[in-house]
Parts: sequence; structure tokens; C-alpha cells
Amino acid sequence: MNLINPNFKVIKYGKKRIKVIYSDLLKTDSCYGLYDTNKQTVNFDQNMKGELFLNTLLHEIFHIIIFNDGIKVKDRGEEPIVMALGDGLTKILKQNKKVRDYIYDCFDNKKML
Ligand SMILES: [Zn+2]
Repeated sequence: MNLINPNFKVIKYGKKRIKVIYSDLLKTDSCYGLYDTNKQTVNFDQNMKGELFLNTLLHEIFHIIIFNDGIKVKDRGEEPIVMALGDGLTKILKQNKKVRDYIYDCFDNKKML
């Protein structure tokens, strides 16, 4: 039931390695997740559980894809953005076994409750 401190400390995206940090982000930055494109780190509030964490993880993964693929959201229509997100998510799931297992585990072990 407890999703605190999942066992991945990095998210690989192509040749990039994005370091994962768990901290009291909600207190320090008033948000649950924060992707720093300069430092190539992604920070998560360490007190999240269940669906909130999964939702935040996916949200930050989409930021990682959009940024690293250089997708100009304002200049592009729906189809190219959806294509890029689908391709990017597939890439993340293929490259990051621990992230993939973690996501699957959310559903298998009723952690979403
Ligand atoms: Zn965001």
C-alpha cells in the first residue's frame, strides 16, 4: 500500500540520465514533482502515495519527453504531440525496467487504493 521511496534513482531517456531525488518538495516548492532541465534532475515529494505518485511520475515523464525531444508545443498540432508522447513513453518503458516494474506493480498489488 505504501509507495514511498520507489527503488529507482535514475530515469534514462536516450543518452540522458535524469537523476531522481525524493525530498519534502511540497513544503519547499509547493508542488509534488519538479523536472529541472538545467540540472537534469527530477524531484518528487517523498510523502506521496498511490495514485498521486503515479500521476506525478507520469506528469514528469511527459515533461522529460517534451523537453528532451525539443517539442515546440505551441507550434505543433495535436497529432505530432501525441505521436511524440507515445514514442517517448515507449522509449522510457523500454529503457527503464525499474520504472516499468514500479508502474505495473501499482496495479498488481492494489497500491492504488
Ligand atoms: Zn508540469
